[in-house]
Order: sequence, then C-alpha cells, then structure tokens
Amino acid sequence: MKYLIVGGVAGGATAAARIRRNTEKAEIIMFEKGQYISYANCGLPYYIGGVIDDRNKLFVQTPEAFGKRFNIDVRTNSEVVSVDVRKKTVAVRTKDGREYTEKYDKLLLSPGASPVVPPLQGIDS
Ligand SMILES: Cc1cc2nc3c(=O)[nH]c(=O)nc-3n(C[C@H](O)[C@H](O)[C@H](O)COP(=O)(O)OP(=O)(O)OC[C@H]3O[C@@H](n4cnc5c(N)ncnc54)[C@H](O)[C@@H]3O)c2cc1C
Repeated sequence: MKYLIVGGVAGGATAAARIRRNTEKAEIIMFEKGQYISYANCGLPYYIGGVIDDRNKLFVQTPEAFGKRFNIDVRTNSEVVSVDVRKKTVAVRTKDGREYTEKYDKLLLSPGASPVVPPLQGIDS
C-alpha cells in the first residue's frame, strides 16, 4: 500500500507516524511545501515573547531524523499542486521548478487552514 500525505506539520506528520506504527510494509511519502516539518506552532508566541530563546527548540523533528526513524520518504520544498482522483496521482512542484507526478493507493490531505477574515474597515492596517 502506497500512502501520500500532503502537509508535514501536526496533522501530516502525526498521520505518517501512525501509519508506520500500524504497518511496516507501507510505502509512505510526505510532501511539505515549506522547508520544515513537525514544528511547534504553539510555541511561536513564546519565542516571539522571549520565553523560548532558542529558535531550534521549536523544531520537534528534522526531515532527516523523522524520515529515518519512521522509514518515511519526506520531501520538503515540494508542493502538491493538483490531484487526479481518477488516475490516483498527484502533481508535485519542487522549489527549483521541477514538476512530476506520483501515484497513490491512499491520499491524506493535511494542508492546514486559513482563517476567515471578516470585511472590517482597517483590518489590513
Ligand atoms: C501561534 C499559534 C499558537 C497555537 N497554539 C496552540 C495551542 O496552544 N494548542 C493547540 O492545540 N493548538 C495551537 N495552535 C494550533 C495548532 O498549531 C494547529 O492546530 C496545527 O498546527 C494544525 O496542524 P495541521 O497539520 O492541520 O496544519 P499546519 O500546521 O498548518 O500544517 C500544514 C502544512 O501543510 C503544508 N501545505 C499546505 N498546502 C500544501 C501543499 N499543497 N503541498 C505541500 N504542503 C502543503 C503547509 O506548508 C504547512 O506546513 C496554534 C497555532 C498557532 C499558529
């Protein structure tokens, strides 16, 4: 079984680790469009406020350590730009502009969310 996971922070990385704990046989590829995975969003206010002084403490895992520990193919700087559910493929664009497709048996989307921004005067100021 080949799993593709889109998004490499709380949801994506948790799902990837969980799938691996359930089976050693699965092929798991995790795509993250940014440079980092599994970082502590919740710690950001503490870093900005100076309670956490070392930025590196926000990184729960590096792509290399996570990939090695759970036998997961972690692909950072890789954005999934489209999904073809009939062919069961995704298109991936890398930071250096390369594009390729990857097949899946199961696809898990964990790309986060954007807040609703109410149309209030001055909200952009
Ligand atoms: C400042 C702050 C404080 C918080 N404090 C708390 C707290 O105290 N307690 C708590 O429970 N929660 C807290 N949260 C919320 C918590 O961090 C989020 O609920 C959690 O990070 C959501 O995880 P996620 O994986 O769903 O999404 P995200 O963390 O948003 O991760 C999604 C990832 O997907 C990647 N991605 C998106 N689209 C694509 C694509 N097409 N291809 C490849 N990659 C893609 C993004 O680059 C991103 O890295 C806080 C959040 C913030 C910002």
